[in-house]
Amino acid sequence: MVGTVEMAREHGIRRIQFGPIEITGRAKKAGVVNPDMKVFAKNLIDCVRLGAKYGIEVSGPISPDLPLRDSYCGVAGGQPIVTPEGHITTCVEVLEEDDPLAETFFIGSVQEKEEADGKPLVQISDQQLDRLSKRRIQYIPNCDACFLKRQCAGGCPAQSLRQENGNLYTLDESWCDAMRQVNEATIRMRVDAEIQPIAPSTRSEFAFTDHSS
Ligand code: SF4
Repeated sequence: MVGTVEMAREHGIRRIQFGPIEITGRAKKAGVVNPDMKVFAKNLIDCVRLGAKYGIEVSGPISPDLPLRDSYCGVAGGQPIVTPEGHITTCVEVLEEDDPLAETFFIGSVQEKEEADGKPLVQISDQQLDRLSKRRIQYIPNCDACFLKRQCAGGCPAQSLRQENGNLYTLDESWCDAMRQVNEATIRMRVDAEIQPIAPSTRSEFAFTDHSS
């Protein structure tokens, strides 16, 4: 990761995003495991420090300066992703029907037969959409006391489900540790004037919607 920042400097790149890799699909079936989140967090802190020295903004899903939000990703908004087999999923990590998480994230299908007007027949489950729309920070009691809840918004829902006996609201402790480690380290660097805050013009806009009522 540090090498990427060095390379960005050489090429005049001003902004880099790093995200933890989630092993899925064929790689998962082949036994490839996720990289260690502790190592990722440490490397990200080094990259934030180095990026600040070079004037390069380093960000990503566990880094500081995330926009305020109430859901981690498009799962709660029912983002439709059509798979090659015609399933409609809301999670980019869950694309195959034999994935144990498919029953949670698949919201419908595009049928081969057509409607009278020749358009493909699309079926969407309102029940599935409604259930997923509740995967928002105000419904995750375990995140209530966390100082990062409006940036993190509960982390990745697929990761929550992949925990032992997990459901959509289960915390992934390795995620939480990494999130806190990176954010605390960055705040400390700013307090010590080791790095400067990112200029407001480059930050994403505030986007919080209250769905609790
Ligand atoms: S870091 Fe953990 S406890 Fe905090 S908001 Fe994210 S998932 Fe919830």
